[in-house]
Amino acid sequence: MLSYSFEPTLEFARKLDREDKLWHFRHEFYLKPGSIYMDGNSLGLLSKRAEKTLLESLDDWKELGIDGWTQGRHPWFYLSERLGEMMAPLVGASPEEVIVTGSTTVNLHQLVATFYKPEGTRTKILADELTFPSDIYALQSQLRIRGYDPDTHLIRVKSRDGRFLEEDDIIAAMADDIALIILPTVLYRSGQILDMKRLTEEAHARGIFIGFDACHSIGAIPHSFSEWEVDFAFWCNYKYLNGGPGCVAGLYVNRKHFGKLPGLAGWFGSRKDKQFDMEHTFTPAETAGAYQIGTPHVLSLAPLIGSLEIFAEAGIENIRQKSLQITQYLMYLIEHELKDFGFTIGNPRDDACRGGHVSLEHDEAARICKSLKENGVIPDFRAPNIIRLAPIALYTSYEEVWKVVQILKKIMKEKQYEKFTNEREVVA
Ligand SMILES: *Cc1c(COP(=O)(O)O)cnc(C)c1O
Repeated sequence: MLSYSFEPTLEFARKLDREDKLWHFRHEFYLKPGSIYMDGNSLGLLSKRAEKTLLESLDDWKELGIDGWTQGRHPWFYLSERLGEMMAPLVGASPEEVIVTGSTTVNLHQLVATFYKPEGTRTKILADELTFPSDIYALQSQLRIRGYDPDTHLIRVKSRDGRFLEEDDIIAAMADDIALIILPTVLYRSGQILDMKRLTEEAHARGIFIGFDACHSIGAIPHSFSEWEVDFAFWCNYKYLNGGPGCVAGLYVNRKHFGKLPGLAGWFGSRKDKQFDMEHTFTPAETAGAYQIGTPHVLSLAPLIGSLEIFAEAGIENIRQKSLQITQYLMYLIEHELKDFGFTIGNPRDDACRGGHVSLEHDEAARICKSLKENGVIPDFRAPNIIRLAPIALYTSYEEVWKVVQILKKIMKEKQYEKFTNEREVVA
């Protein structure tokens, strides 16, 4: 494990910025003067390169019409595959195992429709009680479609403290009646990383398929999905990957499953050379491409081309290293400056278990967030009591982190939050 030693001064923050190997990437992003963005784990910021590749695709449409599918600068017909190839290093997979398609929730539906094969007494799905609601809704509806009662067939591993999951508890729940396991890579509130390698081994030892929701880890931490033999995974591309609001999502399917018929088929899952034969017999691609359904949202794919170039240049290992250091630094400052104000750090301290954000708990969290916004800091609130702060490796500076903690201190000292109500806004 790395060890860190920090000092609380502004000069020290500036020294860390000078030593930051990723510093130059900051200038590639549209940062708003006078505002400090700490919400890149909900919606990543626009980069100039993402803007450029989006405008190029728009221009190809303008100039080429239908021929943009094959003759544009970023031929749309192959774009989902090309982006899958660019994304593969971020999840530790081979290029054919990744495809950029659908949305997170749609991809989960697709993968459950494929990998959930209830048989005999093995009919249940295992998830956890801290997971993102959309995943639970999808699993419940998939069970209903197959004629099972979600109340008895969706098993949710309990958390002992409301923040974290114990791998031992998850493994203990891998019973004979479980057909499929869906877990997050990183918990969206507490930022805990689950031990994906261990959980995959334990699931496979019991003959259970396992898939991960990687929304909170893609672009923030490295993965080795192929090496760990994870069966499948899915994620969104608008958080750490900066693909833009509603950006087309991603999925990974381990190559040992190539050739399976996807649960939800559509013509974009065809072998590319067969797609326009217009036959009524579906010939699925022999790659993760088979899991596509219909025509991709090209203009919501295009920003990813530029964005993923940045990730390739920066390197996910370097991104992870800065992310660990800058989150450690934020926690250090919180403990140094805010100890009298009733905050609790609700994320793992250990580098090996901590994702990309700091989860700050406080009874007045909703209105402290409003006060932060009034002071030019964009945080993220998760009910009932969490302020998520995500310093992003590619564009957040150490000086900004230092300022955020100073602003928080002022808000707490002057009780500035008292002028707001302690309720969340429509989009939190
Ligand atoms: C952001 C997020 C989602 C969002 O799903 P969409 O289909 O993209 O709206 C799902 N799961 C997790 C864990 C998330 O963090």
